Amino acid sequence: MNYKLSESIYRHLVMGTDMKIPLYNGEWVTGINFDNAASTPPLVSVMEEINRFAPMYSSVHRGTGYKSQYSSQIYEEARSIVLNFVNADPNNDTVIFVKNTTEAINKLSYRLCEDNKKGIIISTWMEHHSNDLPWRNKFQVDYVDINSQGKLNLTDLENKLIRHKGKVKLVTVTGASNVTGYINPIHKIAELAHRYRAQILVDGAQMVPHTIVNMRPENPLQRIDYLAFSAHKMYAPFGSGVLIGPQETFQKGVSEMVGGGTAEIVTHDWVIWNDPPMKDEAGSPNVIGVVALVAAIKTLSALNMKKIDHYEYQLAEYAYTGLRSIPGITLYTQLSPGEPHIGVIPFNIKGMHHERVGSILSQEAGIAVRTGCFCTQPYIQKLLSISPKQMEYYKKSRNSSRPGVVRISFGLYNNFNEINILLQTLEQIVRHPT
Ligand code: PLP
Repeated sequence: MNYKLSESIYRHLVMGTDMKIPLYNGEWVTGINFDNAASTPPLVSVMEEINRFAPMYSSVHRGTGYKSQYSSQIYEEARSIVLNFVNADPNNDTVIFVKNTTEAINKLSYRLCEDNKKGIIISTWMEHHSNDLPWRNKFQVDYVDINSQGKLNLTDLENKLIRHKGKVKLVTVTGASNVTGYINPIHKIAELAHRYRAQILVDGAQMVPHTIVNMRPENPLQRIDYLAFSAHKMYAPFGSGVLIGPQETFQKGVSEMVGGGTAEIVTHDWVIWNDPPMKDEAGSPNVIGVVALVAAIKTLSALNMKKIDHYEYQLAEYAYTGLRSIPGITLYTQLSPGEPHIGVIPFNIKGMHHERVGSILSQEAGIAVRTGCFCTQPYIQKLLSISPKQMEYYKKSRNSSRPGVVRISFGLYNNFNEINILLQTLEQIVRHPT
């Protein structure tokens, strides 16, 4: 492991990495972005591809002109590139383009509740609100517990599958946590779910940009039924995301959003819906967003996801070791040898509110982090041992200074030097708290 490496070999591939930003004292420094779990800056190749394509874009599936035909072709070809990236099944799976992971999961939740409103969904204590709230108003939801380190308790998952035998429609789980960075054993979870005749959705928002995702391992029991992810977390701009799942699921029922593009024949008396995926893509599609996503996928694949994963793990390990050596810092994740982890690390400084730490890092060192609960409140409540009674207090008082943590999250362009600056700044904050 080469901790002396000061530059990421990927740095020049990402835009804005050496941008100067102002500090509180008026000085300008090169900004450090450790908030990649929220959104990543774009790859140069992605922006070049957007610029190349921009003069050509036109309506998809709606015109006979050359540009419209070209846009439609590029848009349709994108589906197989996405399928291939995560090794989905080209014969049975469909790729539905949506605006982000949240829309993808909402879409699936509407679809699955159409035929059996009594089904049970097994979610987990680790989920982002986007993989929790969409299920709540449609199904009974049971949450798989976490252990003292914040990792999923798979025995609890199996117990729940046994208890609800035959009634569980779906096990829905994040591939990687946006709070602790743990990578969940999705194939093991898939095997458990399938053994009890449930399907599995993997929320890939944090997993897909940072490690290899294989929807179709050799063992059919371990296959992933549904996968959702967002382009803006994988070095492409906002506005496009993906839901992958079996054609069969989307062949049935009606999309939660209907309109142009979703129907083949419409009379005032009846409608014949299009086949998936068009049936589920109401309105004019975001072809530029899809072009950007494909460009990101091509670049990440060429760089090799395994190498990216390995590099980001080294960053995480270096930061984790450094943070552990600073007295007064409490970490809420564990990096254990041999266990996969994305570059996400949550911590607090004893006696200081997380928002205060975040603003000092930004204003005094130009380091961007995120603070709070990252739309994953139940998980943070558990990690921080916040009781339901305490939460009642926040509910009543609407006190804005709620508990939370500071989160650093790495992208492929970050480097060890930047982590050194973070560690030095944190040491100073601990030494001279204000
Ligand atoms: N799931 C996880 C694990 C996330 O981290 C996020 C965003 O932070 C989402 C879902 C929602 O993603 P989006 O805002 O792109 O819909």
